Amino acid sequence: RAKKEARGTVQAYRPDLTAAAQRRIELVHALRLAQDMGQFHLEYQPQVRVRDGSLIGAEALMRWRIPGKGPVSPLDFIPLAEETGLIIAMGRWVLEQACAQAVLWQAQANMPPVVAVNVSARQLRQPDFLKVLDDVLQRSGCPPHALELEVTESMLLEESDQAIALLYEIAKRGVRVALDDFGTGYSSLAYLRRLPVHTLKLDRSFVKELGQDRQVEAIARTIIRLARDLSLEVLAEGVETPEQVRWLRLAGCDWAQGWCYGKPMRPEGFQYAAPDIAETGVFVDTLVQDEP
Ligand code: C2E
Ligand code: MG
Ligand code: MG
Ligand code: MG
Repeated sequence: RAKKEARGTVQAYRPDLTAAAQRRIELVHALRLAQDMGQFHLEYQPQVRVRDGSLIGAEALMRWRIPGKGPVSPLDFIPLAEETGLIIAMGRWVLEQACAQAVLWQAQANMPPVVAVNVSARQLRQPDFLKVLDDVLQRSGCPPHALELEVTESMLLEESDQAIALLYEIAKRGVRVALDDFGTGYSSLAYLRRLPVHTLKLDRSFVKELGQDRQVEAIARTIIRLARDLSLEVLAEGVETPEQVRWLRLAGCDWAQGWCYGKPMRPEGFQYAAPDIAETGVFVDTLVQDEP
């Protein structure tokens, strides 16, 4: 039947769209089954203090493997999950897993003291979001300060006052709030003053150009400075090279995350060794040697 339809005029002129639409339908179908089939797992990426390389947390990142087909990128399935509403159940599962993991790590040395969880706008918009959060915290026994929720700038744009009230409720519980992909949205900076946010995550698109593009550097420096002046932490995303580490340290960036420090890992095998502490080049040299 699909073949017959494909011969129709509209599809005949838009072969790419048809293929994309077909793949989309298949993915949504597979996504509906994925959670019950146990096809999801989380990986955790180290978050590090730039000054001394010490471990300050880990971001939980969702992974989906379809047996016989390999991994699907979150960049592909998260938007679909948001559109279809599947993100609500998935998001709850992620929160449960991450909180359980945080509890285990609290009892172990050299493990992340805080676990950061990405939360989508659609999830936050659920009227029972706070109830779910309280439930998960209570059942897992996760201390609120061991959890950070990452929300995006765009989510705040959409929802204004209601979103701000929600963030206050989250912060009131002692759960940390981070603004993910910061700098890519268009929110007014004055807005930040009103938000109970603890961390700005400087988007990877800026970090990528450090040492290469003067204008991007100026923006990054401004965001780092802004965070300082507002007494917020700033975490650079997607830090891949020792040169980027050096730049960030000189600019006064508190925290970083990226392949230079560690890739996302399964929690059972999570390992992070802080590079040697040094004020000058030694620390950077160590990183060069440690690079995979
Ligand atoms: P994000 O929250 O901004 O996560 C950072 C992304 O950058 C992750 O991609 C991570 O693997 C990748 N990354 C980290 N360090 C480096 C680096 O040094 N270089 C490069 N090139 N990439 C790096 P990932 O895991 O593919 O996730 C993509 C996006 O999917 C995330 O962006 C987040 O928006 C979303 N996502 C992932 N897991 C979840 C989840 O559980 N819930 C929700 N709502 N969204 C999620
Ligand atoms: Mg994130
Ligand atoms: Mg991010
Ligand atoms: Mg990002």
